[in-house]
Amino acid sequence: MQIGAQKAVTIGYTLKDDEGQVLDTSDGGEALTYLHGAGDIVPGLEKALDGKQVGDEISVKLSPEEGYGQRNEGQIRNIPLRKLPAGKVEVGMQYQITTDAGPMLALVIAVRGDYATIDANHPLAGMTLNFDVKVVEVRDATKDELEHGHVHGPGDHHHH
Ligand SMILES: [Zn+2]
Repeated sequence: MQIGAQKAVTIGYTLKDDEGQVLDTSDGGEALTYLHGAGDIVPGLEKALDGKQVGDEISVKLSPEEGYGQRNEGQIRNIPLRKLPAGKVEVGMQYQITTDAGPMLALVIAVRGDYATIDANHPLAGMTLNFDVKVVEVRDATKDELEHGHVHGPGDHHHH
């Protein structure tokens, strides 16, 4: 079965930066299952996997545009501490915040007085991504999965 729209695809992967440092890997952990064509993974990787089948191995280098996008300085801003959950706010903490574009994870990069500076850029934004991927499983997505735009099943991180 070939990878295409409406397939649930399981991949093993290793992601490295341009210096060869491993940023993320499924080695020794869970393989990733995603719904192809639903934008569940970065666009460049989805494109590279199109038409592949079980056992295929690919290595792709993705520009930031094909990955998590360029860093946007507009995503860095000061917010009053009272807008964050109660408790001590420290550099390096992450919070889920609500923006016009939906929920995002924001990293606290500075705290001054009653304000925190937060960076809501994706941690991998602006980076060239080097993926080594092996296709482990390809199956038809279920009706529920297609409606939800993500896969279900054992081991899946299922958020509703
Ligand atoms: Zn669901």
